Amino acid sequence: MKKGLVKALAVCGAAIMATAALTACGNQASNKLIMGTNAAFPPFEYTTTNGLVGEFDGIDVAIAKKIAEADGKELQINDMEFDGLISAVSTGKIDMAVAGMTVTDERKQNVDFSDTYYVAAQVMVVAADNEDIKSAEDIKKGKKVGVVIGYTGDSLVTEMGVDDNNITRANRGIDIVQDVKNGKLDAVVIDSATGKALAEANGLKVVEDPKAFETEEYAIAVKKGNKELVDKINKVLAEMKKSGEIEKLAVKYNSETAAK
Ligand code: GLN
Repeated sequence: MKKGLVKALAVCGAAIMATAALTACGNQASNKLIMGTNAAFPPFEYTTTNGLVGEFDGIDVAIAKKIAEADGKELQINDMEFDGLISAVSTGKIDMAVAGMTVTDERKQNVDFSDTYYVAAQVMVVAADNEDIKSAEDIKKGKKVGVVIGYTGDSLVTEMGVDDNNITRANRGIDIVQDVKNGKLDAVVIDSATGKALAEANGLKVVEDPKAFETEEYAIAVKKGNKELVDKINKVLAEMKKSGEIEKLAVKYNSETAAK
């Protein structure tokens, strides 16, 4: 009898727990706003022990958190390869890509973009004592150049005419910069804020060439036709721009990631 009761209670408890889990799962699915990103792009997104959302932190994480809050949802972050973000958005695997993503005509064919929230440009990260690379022209002279696959920097060096044999492509900005540090590469072409953060963190320097590298604008990508979400995002971005909050986040995270 006693045994039977314990068993019955155990089964019941399991059933209650299963029901609770199902309810929790169901609620979570509709209560979550899923952001896809590539968390190797400081100061926009990176992982750290005590992040703003789980292990994740950065300017984009802070912006996305505001968007989720304004929408009454919990932010879930899916860390993936940058190159897979556009298809993850268009297949609905993620609700939005918040990844320091530059608006390009090519990408616009597959996703819709929010208003822009940050202006960047490509820069070259080189060794602190490098004297040969002073402009974009210099990296065409047989230099070994690193880029991240699918980044605007990747297409840019190719278009500029850097010999493909001299281009190394990696999945993460954080990793490829190590090859400049250990002398395998002469330069990494990467977005300005990230280039500066990674250069400072690794004792390297940044060479800018505004004539060769045009400005790029970052925006948030959503599934084509998802006007409802774009409108919500744009509202939050407008408020954050007006209050100077995005600028403040940029200053905060630029100095924080540089200190690492
Ligand atoms: N801005 C660059 C691009 O859109 C790099 C973005 C990133 O690495 N997260 O290609």
